[in-house]
Amino acid sequence: MRNGERILIVGAGLSGAVIGRALAQEGWRVEIVDARAHVAGNCHTERDAATSVMVHVYGPHIFHTDDAEIWAYVNGFATFLPYKNRVKTTSGGQVYSLPVNLHTINQFFGKCFRPDEARAFVDGLADRTIADPRTFEEQALRFVGRDLYEAFFKGYTQKQWGCDPAELPASILKRLPVRFNYEDNYFFHRYQGMPEHGYTAMVERILDHPNIRVTLETRFRREETDGFAHIFHSGPLDGYFDYELGRLGYRTLDFERFTHDGDYQGCAVMNYGDASVPYTRITEHKHFSPWETHEGSVCYREFPRACEPGDIPYYPVRLVKEKAQLADYARRAEREKGVTFVGRLGTYRYLDMDVTIREALDTARLFMERRAAGAAMPAFIKSPL
Ligand SMILES: Cc1cc2nc3c(=O)[nH]c(=O)nc-3n(C[C@H](O)[C@H](O)[C@H](O)COP(=O)(O)OP(=O)(O)OC[C@H]3O[C@@H](n4cnc5c(N)ncnc54)[C@H](O)[C@@H]3O)c2cc1C
Repeated sequence: MRNGERILIVGAGLSGAVIGRALAQEGWRVEIVDARAHVAGNCHTERDAATSVMVHVYGPHIFHTDDAEIWAYVNGFATFLPYKNRVKTTSGGQVYSLPVNLHTINQFFGKCFRPDEARAFVDGLADRTIADPRTFEEQALRFVGRDLYEAFFKGYTQKQWGCDPAELPASILKRLPVRFNYEDNYFFHRYQGMPEHGYTAMVERILDHPNIRVTLETRFRREETDGFAHIFHSGPLDGYFDYELGRLGYRTLDFERFTHDGDYQGCAVMNYGDASVPYTRITEHKHFSPWETHEGSVCYREFPRACEPGDIPYYPVRLVKEKAQLADYARRAEREKGVTFVGRLGTYRYLDMDVTIREALDTARLFMERRAAGAAMPAFIKSPL
């Protein structure tokens, strides 16, 4: 047990809360600061005052994992109720099922294919002249051919990343993005669910420990770090260094909120595949809590764009230019003493919640092992590159 030694954690999102809890339980005094007025970071949920709908304030969050330890961990702090993510898309004036599956293919081509017939049909559409796909577009054309690509991938990707899919690397589309059955559950993971009272209530419980003190609406300042045995930084990596090597590129999201009496779209997430529609999707939040009943409804139209100073960074861009810059920041971070960079912003990676919690628990374990052995803690527990 470590009585008296203080740890500073920047950010009260899942990374900060999980590391803080693990260290607090071992007797460390944990101080957490967050610039925002609430805990839970980007997973923050709050009830809308007028409709009492639970709103996913920074965009929809569905918990899914294959990691039994992480599933047990989150269930220790919240009751998870069953939730399956079933996404629809509006394209060319029709509504289809996503991910592209047998229903989507049959509807799109006006067919009644069985799985093998659909597979052979799509195989016939695929552009096999592309032997070595270098771009997202070439990869998609090689997998599914032009019609499916243009209806379900091109416009959405263009809006999401703000550039032509012919300029994005093929690696973004790793496997065949089509299912030859009627499975429309978006995720394959063994465990899926939604916390009954939202993610913020869960994070508040993780933080509820006598050795943890959380200070909100407080921005971390590098000059005020004296007296801490170690710092875990879950804020932006480039922000820690005052952007001295430039800004790492992110996509941000603008949410246009609107309300509706009754049921607006009949599902939680409706994508819009056409490039002519300026938003990528509409989220109707009450459908994330199917065990609740609400007359009113709260919806978000989602508009991605390039992140500017002052915007919330959402998705790391991680193309060639950003990776080179990231390598410079990683080298800079490795020279910094007493700081470990964690989480989606600290390591400039897209991380699902379960991966975030897994890495946070591993970080706390490694820290305690290293301290016990008198060894230094690395800047990253996993290379961000
Ligand atoms: C649109 C969107 C949808 C997503 N949907 C899913 C999903 O469906 N399922 C899933 O598993 N994952 C999803 N994720 C991923 C999920 O949001 C992350 O796994 C999670 O937020 C990571 O937690 P974190 O603590 O690392 O970062 P964050 O949640 O970003 O927390 C970092 C905290 O640090 C604070 N901070 C930053 N800089 C400073 C500073 N200088 N001083 C003080 N405080 C600071 C911030 O205010 C923030 O509260 C989604 C992500 C996005 C962007």
